[in-house]
Amino acid sequence: MNEKCLCEQNDVLIFACAGSSNVGQIGNQTAIQLARDGIGRYFCLAGIGGHVPGMIESTKAGKVLVAIDGCAVSCAKKTLEHAGFRIDEHVQVSELGIEKNHDLNLNPADISKVTHHLASRISKERVG
Ligand code: SF4
Repeated sequence: MNEKCLCEQNDVLIFACAGSSNVGQIGNQTAIQLARDGIGRYFCLAGIGGHVPGMIESTKAGKVLVAIDGCAVSCAKKTLEHAGFRIDEHVQVSELGIEKNHDLNLNPADISKVTHHLASRISKERVG
C-alpha cells in the first residue's frame, strides 16, 4: 500500500484544516489554488493527524511547511505541531477580514485574497 501523498512535486508542503465552515473551505480552496499555481504541494492533514508513517516521512522531507487554518482554533497548526513539526508559514483566514460562518457558497474574491497573501509570504520564505 502506498502511504505517500501523491500531489505536486516541490519542497513547499501546504496543509489546510479544510474545516466545515466558509473559512475552512476557503483555506482548502486556497491550498488547491496554490498547488495549481505550482507554489507548493497540497498535502493531506488527515494523514498527519493519523500518524500515517509514510506521510510523516514525506512531511519530514519538506523544506517549507505551510499551515492554513480557517479560524483561531488553528486545527491544522495544532495537528502538525502535535506530530512534532515546525511550521514556517501559518495563516488564519478569519484574520484576513473574512468572517467565519457556515455558508459554504464561497466568494471567489475571498479565495483570491488568501491565495495572494500566502503566495507572497511563501515566496519571501523561500528567498529568506
Ligand atoms: S481551524 Fe477553525 S475552521 Fe479550521 S477545522 Fe479548526 S475550527 Fe474548523
